[in-house]
Amino acid sequence: MIIAVDGPTASGKGTIAKALAAHFGLPHLDTGLLYRAVGRQVFLDCRDPDDASEALAAADFPDSLLSDPALRSEDAGGLASRVSVHPGVRQTLYERQRAFATQDGGAVLDGRDIGTVIAPEADVKLFVTASVDARAGRRFREMQERGEPHTLKEIADDLRRRDERDRNRAEAPLVPAEDAYILDTSALDRDAAIAAAIEIVESYVAR
Ligand code: C5P
Repeated sequence: MIIAVDGPTASGKGTIAKALAAHFGLPHLDTGLLYRAVGRQVFLDCRDPDDASEALAAADFPDSLLSDPALRSEDAGGLASRVSVHPGVRQTLYERQRAFATQDGGAVLDGRDIGTVIAPEADVKLFVTASVDARAGRRFREMQERGEPHTLKEIADDLRRRDERDRNRAEAPLVPAEDAYILDTSALDRDAAIAAAIEIVESYVAR
């Protein structure tokens, strides 16, 4: 069974994808991490994330970069969103994601275009969303725990900018697949969001 979990930043999609993977015993890939690694490599190489060929060169990052804690920062997320508009970068990361999605036994992948581009044949597609306020509040608390000094307004502005870029890019924009279940987590806490997602997948399995 392939489960695709898409949605904007801080919607809860990563938490939900991880929980689904654990519940159904499937391997999980956070595809945002791949784009974050490209963004981080561009930064380490002192290159321009908005230049298609410089960003593409960084798509050849070493695997060890994927465990760099710096990938979780807001800055890395912003860089990821900039390098992810380049079709060459997306194509380079496609094969890796596709191989993960189609492995024997199935998988859970979370990202922006899993249900539309990477695995359009996925058995269950979830599009996890939440209001900007709810997402900014969550991100703010996470950042505080990590000791990253950002104001709520800075975080909300950054989320809006990233949503705008992700939704309006020409290649693989952030849109729900036609056959995706929309799960709005604005009013749900972590456990309620996970329970709702498990219920959706279980109703598919029971069919
Ligand atoms: O999900 P996360 O916040 O880690 O993603 C960082 C950025 O990577 C997103 O804002 C998006 O621009 C890009 N991304 C993407 N396609 C994916 C996953 C992430 O374009 N499948």
